[in-house]
Amino acid sequence: MNRYQHTLRKPFQIEGIGLHTGKTIKMRALPAPANTGIRFLRTDIMPHTIIPARLDFVVDTSLSTVIGINNLRIHTIEHLMAAFSGMNVDNAIVELSGPEAPICDGSSDFFVQSIRETGIKEQNSLRHYIEIIESFSFVHGDKRIEVKPAGGFEVFCEISYNHPLITYQNFNFSLSEGNFFDIYNARTFGFLSDVEKLKAMGLIMGGSLDNAIVLDTEGVINPEGLRHHDEFARHKTLDIVGDMFLLGYPVLGKVSAYKSGHQLHYQFAKALYSNNKLWKLTTMESEYETIRSDFEFPAVSYN
Ligand SMILES: [Zn+2]
Repeated sequence: MNRYQHTLRKPFQIEGIGLHTGKTIKMRALPAPANTGIRFLRTDIMPHTIIPARLDFVVDTSLSTVIGINNLRIHTIEHLMAAFSGMNVDNAIVELSGPEAPICDGSSDFFVQSIRETGIKEQNSLRHYIEIIESFSFVHGDKRIEVKPAGGFEVFCEISYNHPLITYQNFNFSLSEGNFFDIYNARTFGFLSDVEKLKAMGLIMGGSLDNAIVLDTEGVINPEGLRHHDEFARHKTLDIVGDMFLLGYPVLGKVSAYKSGHQLHYQFAKALYSNNKLWKLTTMESEYETIRSDFEFPAVSYN
């Protein structure tokens, strides 16, 4: 668990197509001062407007997580947010030349490799955590998501699809045990029938077998196959990690989700955040130090 906040050691750049528009997007991620959080900026629109990657700025969750202010939109931030969360980057500015983050290969792989190569730097402000103090669950139809107190950030994700290759899968993840690398390269997925419908509607214009697993009625149509047999559950876990980081701070708690998606993650996180009896902001300052600063040594008496 990190005591202090971290940012990038230096800027890094990625160029890739956007899932939404199908156009090439230039992305630059830059170091930022402590307590900045993750903020986005579109370089193609003047005047430049900063959009914080926080719950209050979420404007759509139907296909991906979208933040915005007025008419400005930034789509598909969740895999980049997951990379920042998993790599312990608290503060960064992300510049984009268009309305979305590059989709890359449909996972967080490119972002994670870039952060690894760039490196991260400790800052001299304490890191704040959202420590869950009371369990909370959110149900919508047959979908469910809940959080319980825990010493680190954990996710248990269950998915169920009426498809012979997936049926039921689950994945158990614990960031504090350093196993972010179990999920960062799991790709997003879609069904061929939905892909065709969405493309006919002018959506996911950049979607291809290079940036998603696509399933027909029997199996995966990507020639390279799957990266993990449970890549679907791993990817949904990655989405939860990215969406939970919209709380603005890392979470100390165990999130369990069944059949969840961006919309449920957002509604759940918003309901959780607005009830401050369920959590408190905390730091990793040790009890010893807290006691030491308040502690008055008893006077020594010599008889
Ligand atoms: Zn995703």
